Amino acid sequence: MRKRDQSPFGKRGSSAAKRPGSSRVSGNQARGKPGKGGSGPLLTRRRLIGGLAAGVVIALAVRTGQLPHHAAKSRPRAVPRAVAKEPEAEVAVPAAEPQGNADRRAKSFGSAAVLTALWTTDELRSQPNEARIVRLRPADHTPPDRASLRQPLPPLSPPFTGSIRRVKTENDEKLVALTFDLCERADDVAGYEGGIVDILREGRVPATFYAGGKWLRSHAERALQLIADPLFEVGNHGWTHGNMRVLEGEAAEQQVVWTMAEYEILRERLAARAEAKGVDAEEIARIPLSTRTFRFPYGTCSEATLAMVGRLGLPAIQWDVISGDAVKGQSPETVRRSVLDQVKPGSIVVFHGNGRGSGTVAALPAIVRELAHRGYRFVNVSYLLGAGQPVAYGECYELRPGDNQRYDRLFGAGTG
Ligand SMILES: [Zn+2]
Repeated sequence: MRKRDQSPFGKRGSSAAKRPGSSRVSGNQARGKPGKGGSGPLLTRRRLIGGLAAGVVIALAVRTGQLPHHAAKSRPRAVPRAVAKEPEAEVAVPAAEPQGNADRRAKSFGSAAVLTALWTTDELRSQPNEARIVRLRPADHTPPDRASLRQPLPPLSPPFTGSIRRVKTENDEKLVALTFDLCERADDVAGYEGGIVDILREGRVPATFYAGGKWLRSHAERALQLIADPLFEVGNHGWTHGNMRVLEGEAAEQQVVWTMAEYEILRERLAARAEAKGVDAEEIARIPLSTRTFRFPYGTCSEATLAMVGRLGLPAIQWDVISGDAVKGQSPETVRRSVLDQVKPGSIVVFHGNGRGSGTVAALPAIVRELAHRGYRFVNVSYLLGAGQPVAYGECYELRPGDNQRYDRLFGAGTG
């Protein structure tokens, strides 16, 4: 059980397929070929060694497409103000981008043709030092090159409003969404934990990355690869990891909109590069035009900011399983156990992929292998949302209502 005063976002605050479907990973076939662990000098030997020891090869039967910390084994108890859970509720859906189940399932997350046209396997693989985190002085609060949106989304309607912690899947179908936060504040340049991406690609495991907008800008080439890859969904994690319970009005909205804008800029660049390589327009069209979901930095929100992301068309995705990897020096064994003890059908698991996730690379192969063995399919968050009824609440918390209030005192506006 972690200490209550320790931030899951790291010491200083910022912790730190071709078409929709998912891939089933065969537990039998999973076996230990070394995964390429992140190996920057700031990474511990523990991580590197663990990554090698626990590495994995997970075979897949691809039906591609798609597809914070632990402490307590107990689930959130009293859940106040449930926002929407009536299973039969028909959703009033804006026409432009329907949020209904079938439509979410039908979405694609990228294009293998684009990915392979633009990068070799070697170029996609992780490199040493990429997970390193660098302090910035002075802090960088500059906006993206273009701060307005060309691809706005229609506002959300229930049941996609509220803070979504998991999805009640139809017939308790064993789906699980692994998510990796790529947090970056104004006062640092965070890392890219390529070992995670290597493991996911090798095992054909769909996953969702919640990227800060500034992270997207500072890691443009890696961001382009994640956006292009049909295995991965790239979600929105705020421009500079702002604490959205403290920020208000324009400052809060900029966190979300600037990140959407940066994604659009990268998506346009990606399309231009793919077109120049002669990739079919149909393939390029498989790459989402915008981020589709949002994760509140620090897992904090206010009523106003929760409503604001809904107006901007982004379901707020929290988690029901905290890996615990944001605790500095966390052991892979604890991360593994935390996840495996908590996952149930429709779970959303939070990890960190920005160099602030301790034990993640080393624990991931065993987590994937065991969940596959239990019959789980890995899916992206947007796919999961279409596979049942979102379980959403009117407030944001880690595991119990009120348990993240201390971040306001610790991090203030949170952006650094
Ligand atoms: Zn974060």
